[in-house]
Amino acid sequence: MASLQPIRGTRDIIGEDQRRHHHVIATARAVAATYGFDEWITPVFEDTQVFARTLGETSDVVSKEMYTFADRGGDSLTLRPENTAGICRALVSNGLTQSLPQKVFYAGPMFRYERPQKGRYRQFHQIGAELIGAPEPLADAEVIALGWDILAALGLSADVVLEINTLGDSVSRDAYRAALVAYFTAHRDALSADSQLRLERNPLRILDSKDEGDRRLVAAAPVIAPYLTPEAAAFYDAVRRHLTQLGVPFVENPRIVRGLDYYSHTAFEFVTTRLGAQGTAMAGGRYDGLVAEMGGPPTPAVGWAAGIERLSMLLAAAPAVVAPIAVVPMGDAAEAAALGILQALRRAGLRTEMAYRGTMKKRMERANKLGARAAIILGDDELARGVAAVKNLVTGTQAEIPIADLPGYLAAGPAVP
Ligand code: ATP
Ligand code: MG
Repeated sequence: MASLQPIRGTRDIIGEDQRRHHHVIATARAVAATYGFDEWITPVFEDTQVFARTLGETSDVVSKEMYTFADRGGDSLTLRPENTAGICRALVSNGLTQSLPQKVFYAGPMFRYERPQKGRYRQFHQIGAELIGAPEPLADAEVIALGWDILAALGLSADVVLEINTLGDSVSRDAYRAALVAYFTAHRDALSADSQLRLERNPLRILDSKDEGDRRLVAAAPVIAPYLTPEAAAFYDAVRRHLTQLGVPFVENPRIVRGLDYYSHTAFEFVTTRLGAQGTAMAGGRYDGLVAEMGGPPTPAVGWAAGIERLSMLLAAAPAVVAPIAVVPMGDAAEAAALGILQALRRAGLRTEMAYRGTMKKRMERANKLGARAAIILGDDELARGVAAVKNLVTGTQAEIPIADLPGYLAAGPAVP
């Protein structure tokens, strides 16, 4: 029978991959906690409207990338392509719109029907942060600083560059949009087919095009700065000032727009040259319209999301496996006593294993194969004296230790005899 395969664009995360993945989440979670962010877990699937209403009908995600299906009751559901919409939906559903600000961290799988390639999958995973209910530019700066600190804690501060931009307020954006339409209309024939469509529907998105020809035109396109209202310019000034005060280095990139419709003011990306075309590791911005789209009161918010797979690939090394301790009994009486030792060591927090069967020789071979740092060898003679032989499998030296002292003796780490 043909063996079953994972779905195209999905992958099993096992072994070294899993250790990298876990390290990214655990590190991000710990740093987010220091900023006072609490973790929320929202459903992996939502009413399709949660995304269709908010991400923008012409966005790539909604127009081509969503996993949407009718469930058995005939309702249209969508596997979440991102988690910001779900968090805003949850804020409204849980009556939290009057308990602001809310500082939210999340981690979990997202789903997009994209062409799979290195760093781009159909099921991928994100960590993310949302600061909901603070209109001040300090909120933008603090959310970005959180992202920066997570990347630094992962050892990636030399691998990523923070690029920031502003999309202004709606008055600024309308004026800028008109300037872009004039410019791109003059070069319409040189635009890709996708961007010709964007020109009609959402010209700002052309700035985000990955097409080579488009990118050349984009390089000479107008920038937003001259179109900013004084208020929008002051907001952007304050964000940059606070970033500096918070010790976060950045460069300005006037080409950054976010792919989804709900952004205004600050837009930012942490980019790297180490992942080829998939160079954006973390991306976000301010989205002041989204909570209202979910049926809540107008509520300002700012946040980011980062691809865990991309961050995992950037990590210099996978976290090491914790070397276990192997218990090696000789004979039935010793095997029975060994179970008590196993449990005592595990309850002391030590990774401990015993082979399910085999001679001492086989069990020692197994211990070496596991990369065990120590073997506790237990025979009838040792048992009668209430001791066990502890062999350091790194150095080969051996010592006799009272059974009751084993957890304390081994807790000290690899420095066994
Ligand atoms: P890209 O421009 O690479 O398509 P995006 O703008 O669609 O990214 P966002 O929606 O901002 O990405 O998602 C935030 C982050 O999630 C990205 O910067 C990236 O690290 C990660 N990400 C997005 N799509 C994928 C995917 N299909 N596979 C793996 N990671 C992804
Ligand atoms: Mg994308």
